[in-house]
Amino acid sequence: MTNLEKLWDYQSADVAVDRLQNEMKRSPTRIKLLKCRENLEEQQKNYKRIESEISVMADRLEALKDALTRAENSLKALQTKIETAPATNSEEAAAYIADVRKLRDSILNYEKEISKIRKDAQDREKQQHDVKVKYAKYKNEFAALKEVYDAEYAEKTKELEALKAVVQEKAKDIPADLMEKYQQIKHHSVPPLSKLTGDKCGGCNMNLPSGAVRSIKNGEFVECETCGRLVTL
Ligand SMILES: [Zn+2]
Repeated sequence: MTNLEKLWDYQSADVAVDRLQNEMKRSPTRIKLLKCRENLEEQQKNYKRIESEISVMADRLEALKDALTRAENSLKALQTKIETAPATNSEEAAAYIADVRKLRDSILNYEKEISKIRKDAQDREKQQHDVKVKYAKYKNEFAALKEVYDAEYAEKTKELEALKAVVQEKAKDIPADLMEKYQQIKHHSVPPLSKLTGDKCGGCNMNLPSGAVRSIKNGEFVECETCGRLVTL
């Protein structure tokens, strides 16, 4: 076996490792598992968002309750004042009426906002409940998928280890500089070796100069000018 033939042999084992690794990455179970994890994270985010909205509402509710108490007290004080110092003319009476109306309007607005916030808070609690239900559902789904995936992963990993052992075994016979070249080419062109097809590079299908074709036929190492692959017979 020439070094190039050994390298071809090595490449076929190397390709098998890459193929299995890609297959493992694209495993439908793995993709479902990742999607499920995304869903779980999304529900966690939703929960936190709702929680912070509820906390803002609670703060606002406290402030509104205080404002309401103050307005009610002011109204009581005003009513007492009106009883103890009744209006003596129509202007004073109008001023009292305006003050009472203003306080009553404020009270009404505070009460409206309080009841709106209470309703919104109830909606948020309902949303929180829905999120909890969804989270529990995804969590169960995740656990079930994880079990399947772990078994699949363990099996594929065993398979992968066996293929990697073959690759290592085949690498032993290949000169270090040739192996280095192979790995360099692999960074940009996969697989790194190509066959001469007519006078074209079998990797990228581009024509090779006649000098290069001759060299290849003489068993020399020639890299394709276009894709950089090592072109062999
Ligand atoms: Zn090429």
